[in-house]
Amino acid sequence: MTVMKFGGTSVADAPAIARLVAIVGDRWRAHPGEAPLVVVSALAGVTDRLMAVADEAGAGRGGAVSDAVRDLERRHLQLLDDILAAAGATTDARTATTADEVRREIAASFDRLGQVAGALSVVGEVSPRSRDAIAATGELVSSRLVRLALTLAGIDAAWADARSALVTSGEFGAATPDMTATREALAASVAPHLARGTVVVVGGYVGATREGIVTTLGRGGSDYSAAIFGAALGAREIQIWTDVDGMLTADPRLVDHADLVDTLSFGEAAELAYFGAKVLHPSTILPAIEHDIPVRILNSRHPERQGSRIVAARPGGRPGGAGLAAAPARPGLTAVAAKRGVTRLDVSSTRMLMAHGFLARVFAIFERHRTPVDVVTTSEVSVSVTIDDTRALDAIVSELRAFCEVAVEPGMAIVAAVGDDLRDDPTLASRVLGALAGMRVAMVSQGGSRRNITFVLSEADAAAAMRRLHGERRPAREATA
Ligand code: ADP
Ligand code: ASP
Ligand code: MG
Repeated sequence: MTVMKFGGTSVADAPAIARLVAIVGDRWRAHPGEAPLVVVSALAGVTDRLMAVADEAGAGRGGAVSDAVRDLERRHLQLLDDILAAAGATTDARTATTADEVRREIAASFDRLGQVAGALSVVGEVSPRSRDAIAATGELVSSRLVRLALTLAGIDAAWADARSALVTSGEFGAATPDMTATREALAASVAPHLARGTVVVVGGYVGATREGIVTTLGRGGSDYSAAIFGAALGAREIQIWTDVDGMLTADPRLVDHADLVDTLSFGEAAELAYFGAKVLHPSTILPAIEHDIPVRILNSRHPERQGSRIVAARPGGRPGGAGLAAAPARPGLTAVAAKRGVTRLDVSSTRMLMAHGFLARVFAIFERHRTPVDVVTTSEVSVSVTIDDTRALDAIVSELRAFCEVAVEPGMAIVAAVGDDLRDDPTLASRVLGALAGMRVAMVSQGGSRRNITFVLSEADAAAAMRRLHGERRPAREATA
């Protein structure tokens, strides 16, 4: 079977949902007996709005909470009407009943949301657990609307509740899957439908613990849900349907003329996603790698385009390098990515840096505060690290200051140049370094995988750095061709 994930803009309104229905319907008809699992995000912008509801509740603004909840409910009910209007004469008594059920479910979901967020606004405090319960509303209702639209188009479709399909840890806002329990849950509630040729629609991003407490996988996590479901169900392919043609050579919002990367390796995709290529959630690739399931990124506005394929090793590339005479199909960098909102910490100690156990002591502090470190560089007297989660920054800094000096520099960005060819082509790394000549670069690091070179510089310089690196991604004669 295939997992087909549709992001927020691909379910934003009735025309987007009509495109989704056409794409899923084509697949369903072309592969009888092999129904896809359809994973959907919340409607475009809805998760942001739900986060704002949580913020308003936390600030004790009950009035703003109820206004926002009413707006969200109105938008979803309007979309329901638009979907019904588009289906027009094809609506029969059975589908009318289904539509009524969906209308009631939407109303009930937003009633519950209003009650929960209203109560929280009285206390003026929102825990990570309550925030997840609020955020989950978006996918729980969008998935019902998509299931309805498929049914109205004559496609046999069922709805699955993500809160029972995806079993996770209890780390709210960053839950991880319990694969064994998820596999069991899917075998009971999803696989039998698929085996009968019924399409199953489920919300991404959302799960629940074994005890049934609602969790989320973190922003952008619907991609991750799709990969988890794909791995658990033994999918042949995981399709990520979005609003661009695939993985592009750079963020199209920052760089003009970004090109499509037609094929990239799991390693390249993982690095690009990790360093800011928003088109793919950074964890998506892990379940796909483990089960060697190809991932495809496709444009829901242009389903006829080929998209990007992410596979174990790209053709013509030289994984492992050994003895392959063929030149890489696409020499040079694969793509560049940027991550903003990064904070740099420069930790120095003239006395202790080289002392046995010093680095372990430094990193143990980040570990204790569950703060991932992205880029690390060392010199004889200092170690510099970057973090993007600053929730524990004050505590980390005060613990570090017990035995070293610490300088904190917020407002930084990581810009990463990524390509498997960095391992094989010695001139490529020097061209990449040369591209940023004259810019104030705070840190440079070549990843252990040797398929990326990362730069840490001020956020204000990130777009320019990205453009310069993007210009260097091909050998000079090709770039000017
Ligand atoms: P969805 O809602 O479908 O999950 P996202 O907004 O999460 O979509 O991701 C798609 C967006 O990612 C694109 O519209 C684009 O602006 C952005 N993006 C950033 N870097 C890249 C890249 N290298 N290739 C493609 N898209 C990128
Ligand atoms: N709706 C969630 C978000 O906006 C998850 C996703 O779209 O992948 O972060
Ligand atoms: Mg996304």
